[in-house]
Amino acid sequence: MKRVLIIGGGPAGLMAATQLLKSDCEILLLDHKASVGRKFLVAGDGGFNLTHSETPSEFRDKYDSEWIRQTIRQFSNKDWIKFLKQIGVETKIGSSGKIFPADDIKPIQVLNAWKSFLEPKVQFLLNTRFVNFDHKQAVIEREGKSEKMDFDYLVLALGGKSWPVTGSDGAWTAVFEQKMIELTPFQASNSGLVLYENWLGDLEGKILKNIRVTCGNQSCSGDLVCTSYGLEGKPVYAVNGALRKMEKPVFKVDLKPQMSLEKVFEVLKKAKNPSQGLKELKLGEVAIFWIRNFVSKERFLNPKELAKAIKEFPIGIRGFRPIEEVISCAGGVSVSEISASGELNRFPNVFVAGEMIDWDAPTGGYLIQGCVSSGYVSGKAIKLSIMN
Ligand SMILES: Cc1cc2nc3c(=O)[nH]c(=O)nc-3n(C[C@H](O)[C@H](O)[C@H](O)COP(=O)(O)OP(=O)(O)OC[C@H]3O[C@@H](n4cnc5c(N)ncnc54)[C@H](O)[C@@H]3O)c2cc1C
Repeated sequence: MKRVLIIGGGPAGLMAATQLLKSDCEILLLDHKASVGRKFLVAGDGGFNLTHSETPSEFRDKYDSEWIRQTIRQFSNKDWIKFLKQIGVETKIGSSGKIFPADDIKPIQVLNAWKSFLEPKVQFLLNTRFVNFDHKQAVIEREGKSEKMDFDYLVLALGGKSWPVTGSDGAWTAVFEQKMIELTPFQASNSGLVLYENWLGDLEGKILKNIRVTCGNQSCSGDLVCTSYGLEGKPVYAVNGALRKMEKPVFKVDLKPQMSLEKVFEVLKKAKNPSQGLKELKLGEVAIFWIRNFVSKERFLNPKELAKAIKEFPIGIRGFRPIEEVISCAGGVSVSEISASGELNRFPNVFVAGEMIDWDAPTGGYLIQGCVSSGYVSGKAIKLSIMN
């Protein structure tokens, strides 16, 4: 009987195992933590966005690489929702179109339902650390001892580098570098932004409501939270990719997206003075602080210029938060090193899956979906290979 080793018990590894349940093979799922799915559970601590209900093309547009888009064509948001239903996890659509577990279902229940579904066939080897691999064996460490495990197929689903406490510490990159497998360096993604000191004022904890952030061709509406170092919130996470490409990263905020430039201008022109105009526009404390401190007096006194500043307020950033703190990582195994199913070009029968591959997407369900879709394609390729 063929032996499949899957290393990493996040959504990517669990989905690879799921695809092999009906195959004639032995499945061992290894993880160096004492339990699987720790980052999946951390994701559940906030809003647990499992995926999104958008149309297929809108959905796929959220990803930055064709490699991950083709995995989503093979295992879509609908397929993922159907699978969750199969294991007893009903889902609901939130007002923003995001998909969550139904009201009374907790993240740990989702994980336990998935594990129970796998347990009859999959052997879980926990506290077992992956150290290296060649064409036929993986080197692992268990109980302080190093051993070699034979495999016919190996799936590495070792995650990115954020939140290392959950197990995804990125240590595997050294093994890949040693084998000359091309990696794109990890970078923080879905990260808060660090602003220059003079932008911070006394704003910590204040919320900038209903604004729109734009950078290059990326744009997102929502609320931003001011922190001790800068800004957090979906709109700035959504433009991380565009900011990373800029030498001097600057994004623009529309402080009044509900009104056109002409309408904002009209309100300012009719007002007794600019301060009165800002009041009538009902801009919040943060917006007013920024306008007062960063719009020149000349522009402030000119309604047309002030309206433009309100609609396209430029903010330069100092950088991103440390990778360890952010939701996800861009970078990882270069897609030029793998086939459509994630098989390494130079190591036949060795697959990679999930966040360890170089693709990026905004938070809001797209990350977990990308991981399960890539786990699906690796599992399916192994299933077909075993059948043949
Ligand atoms: C705070 C936070 C909130 C999030 N919220 C959301 C959300 O709402 N929606 C969404 O779509 N995504 C969200 N995400 C992202 C999502 O959780 C990840 O993208 C996803 O878990 C990655 O799946 P993965 O299987 O690729 O890797 P991981 O889930 O990171 O799993 C990798 C596994 O590999 C194991 N491993 C690593 N190295 C070794 C080794 N050497 N030996 C053995 N085992 C090893 C780890 O222990 C781990 O279990 C969030 C992430 C964070 C941190």
